[in-house]
Parts: sequence; C-alpha cells; structure tokens
Amino acid sequence: MACLFCEIVVGRIPAKKAFEDDDLLAFHDINPQAPTHILVVPKRHITSLGDLEPGDDALVGSMARRAKELARDLGHAERGFRLVMNAGDDAGYSVYHIHLHLLGGRRLGWPPG
Ligand code: AMP
Ligand code: ZN
Repeated sequence: MACLFCEIVVGRIPAKKAFEDDDLLAFHDINPQAPTHILVVPKRHITSLGDLEPGDDALVGSMARRAKELARDLGHAERGFRLVMNAGDDAGYSVYHIHLHLLGGRRLGWPPG
C-alpha cells in the first residue's frame, strides 16, 4: 500500500489520534503550522478533491462537521479557526489522500501564503 494516510488509517504508521469512527480518522499533523493542527481524513481512500463524486457529499460534509466539533472541544469556537483542503501543485498538495486541515490557536493571516 503506497498511501501514507491509508497506512495511518490501518495503524501501520503511528499517528496521534484526535478522533476516530467508522468513516473518519483525525490525527495531529506531524509538522504543525499552528498550536492546533489536525488532519481529518476519510478512512476510504480518495486521491484528491478532483476525484470527488456526488456520492461523497455526505462524507465530505461529515469531515467539516467533525473538524468544527474538534475545534469546539479544543476551545477554538469563540476566537475562531480555519479549515483548509489543498489540491494540486499550486496549493502545495503533498499527500494524495484527501484531508481537511484544522488550524487554530493563533491569529491566522489572510491571504494565506
Ligand atoms: P497537504 O500539503 O495539504 O497535502 O498536507 C499534507 C500534510 O500532511 C502536511 O501538513 C504534513 O505535515 C502532514 N503529514 C505528512 N506526513 C505526516 C504524518 N506521518 N503524520 C501526520 N501528518 C503528516
Ligand atoms: Zn489513502
């Protein structure tokens, strides 16, 4: 299996888990860009945003809802947080298994770099 996040999902590569259910796994980014930097991934491999299909709508919605619940649980509901999904080279997409970044705990600049 060549996909890093699939390896994390099945437990062959360790990660610091923040949440898990039948469909999703959330774990702390290995190179955090903010005090809170968590990745929410579907357990089912989807290579990139470009591969999403109508049948994935509920799954992607559940990723966003899970991320905001993690943000709330970590105390970021009041001051705010950011959700990011990268796609392609211009965005620096580097692990080809879709993931939603949850960033919080500091003032986040806009526009992003
Ligand atoms: P992206 O640039 O959107 O593809 O983001 C990929 C993210 O995965 C980066 O923020 C990396 O720091 C993170 N990452 C890479 N390898 C690991 C790992 N083994 N465990 C946790 N996060 C990782
Ligand atoms: Zn994968």
